Amino acid sequence: MSQKKMVDVIVIGVGSMGSSACYHLAKRGVNVLGLEQFEAPHDLGSHSGQSRIIRKAYGEDTDYVPLLIKAYQNWETLEQETQTKLYYQTGLLYLCAPHNQYLNNIKCASKAFNIEVNTISKESLNSKYPQFVIPHNFEHILEPQSGFLRPELCITKLIEQAILRGASIKMHEKVLSWEQHQGMIRVKTDQDLYYASKLIITAGPWASQLIPTLKPHLKVIKQMIAWVKPKSWEQFRLGNFPCWILNDLNLYGYGFPALPNETFGTPLGMKVALHQYQTGSDFNPDTKDRRVHQTELDLLIHFMKQFIPEGFKEILQSKTCLYTNTLDSNFIIDHLEGYDKNVAIAAGFSGHGFKFVSVIGDILADLILEKSTKYPIKFLNASRFKR
Ligand SMILES: Cc1cc2nc3c(=O)[nH]c(=O)nc-3n(C[C@H](O)[C@H](O)[C@H](O)COP(=O)(O)OP(=O)(O)OC[C@H]3O[C@@H](n4cnc5c(N)ncnc54)[C@H](O)[C@@H]3O)c2cc1C
Repeated sequence: MSQKKMVDVIVIGVGSMGSSACYHLAKRGVNVLGLEQFEAPHDLGSHSGQSRIIRKAYGEDTDYVPLLIKAYQNWETLEQETQTKLYYQTGLLYLCAPHNQYLNNIKCASKAFNIEVNTISKESLNSKYPQFVIPHNFEHILEPQSGFLRPELCITKLIEQAILRGASIKMHEKVLSWEQHQGMIRVKTDQDLYYASKLIITAGPWASQLIPTLKPHLKVIKQMIAWVKPKSWEQFRLGNFPCWILNDLNLYGYGFPALPNETFGTPLGMKVALHQYQTGSDFNPDTKDRRVHQTELDLLIHFMKQFIPEGFKEILQSKTCLYTNTLDSNFIIDHLEGYDKNVAIAAGFSGHGFKFVSVIGDILADLILEKSTKYPIKFLNASRFKR
């Protein structure tokens, strides 16, 4: 066996979670090889689209908050190490129909972890954020220490920092199979064979191709995002407009301020989307046809005209991106059963994983090197679906 092809840890999939795993392993002095089928970042997985919301008073489940506290710290460290701005604090406005459980959870998380969230009266909403036209019985709260990350730049910087610390990252190399072989892990790609003591699989929408036992627990769905031209730019530009989430029971929309092209590149426009978690059939991520259908655009246009009428003049561009959903919308971060804790997996990020990227690499490095982690991730174990 060639020494060149034997490493401590192989990471399959160098997208969001995999780039972070490579970075954290390299930071700990581990000889790591990352294998990526495309050129990351790319727009065929789950991480493309210019921006990702990051927030701390977590409405999905307060168990995520300790992870988020560390994620914020780790993003800041990466910004300092790379002298690059990755996080933009815009504040996040939640606009929700009454008796909304999600909003109650946010308030509980805020109380339990002392995270600032401010209730906004109808009057101050109208004066501070006249861009929104909201039913009179809606509740509004603002989480000031929220904003967005630049996903493609985050991944680029994680990969760059991993390489600078000695990681080897091979792009355009697809993993075809892996197995335990004579006490080691053997990984076969479309170009070569590699051996390692340990393996991390962070394959996003392709996870169940590499881990067939996950297949019944994961569903990949297409999500549409669009960049729109507002009727006037000024009131929607970065600095004048926050990130927002609007939940009216039937629809869950979210959006970002319009970002200047000189800093953020294309697409031009203000990014808006509907979080359609429940809809869509299981999508094969190898399908190259990612066209957006007019019916999806029509739903978004209707939503914008109803709630942010000045924000919509026309659609400038639209794209699709993939969610990999679990049955309970919680992530799976665990050892893979049957490999004596030598294989770790992170999958099923269910449309809300990016903000955690900076901490999940750290957790995966713990799991694979120490066989356990100090982070409270029991609620993300893989065996919960077997019960
Ligand atoms: C439209 C949309 C909006 C979102 N908004 C937010 C948001 O606002 N906030 C937030 O926190 N999260 C958000 N998310 C979720 C977040 O982006 C994802 O949870 C996260 O990117 C998932 O990361 P991943 O590493 O699992 O997948 P990916 O980033 O797709 O990485 C998986 C990688 O594995 C590679 N790979 C797979 N199979 C192989 C193989 N056989 N060989 C080699 N390489 C392989 C793939 O090419 C890919 O690069 C959003 C997602 C979408 C789609």
